[in-house]
Amino acid sequence: MADVSAECNIKVLCRFRPLNQSEIIRGDKFIPSFQADDTVSIAGKSYVFDRVFPTNTTQEQVYNTCAKQIVKDVLGGYNGTIFAYGQTSSGKTHTMEGKLHDPHGMGIIPRIAEDIFNHIFAMDENLEFHIKVCTLLTMTPSTNLAVHEDKHRVPYVKGCTERFVSCPEEVMDVIDEGKANRHVAVTNMNEHSSRSHSIFLINIKQEHVETEQKLCGKLYLVDLAGSEKVSKTGAEGAVLEEAKNINKSLSSLGNVISALAEGNTHVPYRDSKMTRILQDSLGGNCRTTMFICCSPSSYNDQETKSTLMFGQRAK
Ligand code: ADP
Ligand code: MG
Repeated sequence: MADVSAECNIKVLCRFRPLNQSEIIRGDKFIPSFQADDTVSIAGKSYVFDRVFPTNTTQEQVYNTCAKQIVKDVLGGYNGTIFAYGQTSSGKTHTMEGKLHDPHGMGIIPRIAEDIFNHIFAMDENLEFHIKVCTLLTMTPSTNLAVHEDKHRVPYVKGCTERFVSCPEEVMDVIDEGKANRHVAVTNMNEHSSRSHSIFLINIKQEHVETEQKLCGKLYLVDLAGSEKVSKTGAEGAVLEEAKNINKSLSSLGNVISALAEGNTHVPYRDSKMTRILQDSLGGNCRTTMFICCSPSSYNDQETKSTLMFGQRAK
């Protein structure tokens, strides 16, 4: 497959997972049909993206087509963001993380971790690298990350622990710890409330040992909270409030991406915490890629249509 991530700064890619066992048993229908490599049709309506990945696409194909170039760009001093958007169980975590320690099953984040270090080993020996990673979680109001601004008005997040890493395995360790923390946070809350955004940040600084010339790039990897409508989850009280906040942050993200895609002079970054955090890694010279993850099942057709519409707004 050709690389699609080089030409334009916002890419929207759509990925469909296969029907799962319980959908097959229930007798759900497989509703999408795929044309060329950029179009999917549902109920007679076509949706065009930079790329559409049918259900049999491998993790490696996804990575090579969409993320490999971003690693090179971040090592070249650009900032970038890769998102996964879609309802719960549509394949967001599969796409972003996949099976962390399985060479075929690995998703984008572990492949990026390996690729970064492979590039570095092949680069000029006079370059010194400092690579920092951290996991940011957004959960309930109480564990919510506080966004602050430094004296240059660049937003930063208080309460996230950063770690320097020197090999891909150390990156995986941080992801594993992030998952464990998330598990604790979910268990401590209402079990219905497992929706949260998970944001993984890779920060790369390089310095030439002789010239002292510096170059910085950072990459946000975002597994967004499920986009399903609140009504379907039957939430109440505090859980309902939290769900509304999540839906609001997702629609703010949609507004920011569509303002960027349209080239608007005003981009409403300040409307949500997440877009404030991501501000310097979205739009402008940044590399932005959005995965639109979809279920192929007739049971989820309404959510799938609204997910596809969300992706179309960014085009
Ligand atoms: P989400 O993070 O959107 O809630 P997951 O990534 O956890 O969804 O996917 C739900 C289930 O479907 C998981 O068991 C995952 O392994 C499986 N799955 C998702 N996408 C694919 C795919 N493209 N191919 C095979 N299995 C997939
Ligand atoms: Mg998930």
